[in-house]
Amino acid sequence: MTELYAILMSWAVMLSGLPPPERMPEVVPVSHGYLVETACSGRECKVMGWFPPGNTIYLDQRLNPQDNLLASSIVVHEMVHYLQHQSVAKDLPFDCLSTVALERQAYGVQREYLLRYGVYQPVGVSMHNVGCQEAAVPGLAAKETLIGDSASDRHRAQD
Ligand SMILES: [Zn+2]
Repeated sequence: MTELYAILMSWAVMLSGLPPPERMPEVVPVSHGYLVETACSGRECKVMGWFPPGNTIYLDQRLNPQDNLLASSIVVHEMVHYLQHQSVAKDLPFDCLSTVALERQAYGVQREYLLRYGVYQPVGVSMHNVGCQEAAVPGLAAKETLIGDSASDRHRAQD
């Protein structure tokens, strides 16, 4: 897995234009229940990955980035947040507009990554409607719940 994560990180660096990391983040597979508890304050949500500022990316253990492109794209997305946190995010205020800007960049990279593999997946489409009231995320903790809009996307994510 370490090698796969190194490859995914190089995609994140190349497509975001952000500086390469000095050290790799740790990717930790966790249960859906753990993600709901930590990333969604215990209220059921469709979270797939979570990056609270630090060195750890939490990933739903049902995702298989080794064999599933969409799952690997979620890792790339989270790695962009890691890179942002190491560089640009440090100088941004912890407010809604910054959070939305960082999310848009991460989704842009994720879409580009999928396109390079010839897959069009409308990830982050819900971002178009994100206003700054519902988008406020304290401390820039980024959780990914917007993987497509429909139930079929959820199934695809688990193929
Ligand atoms: Zn995100």
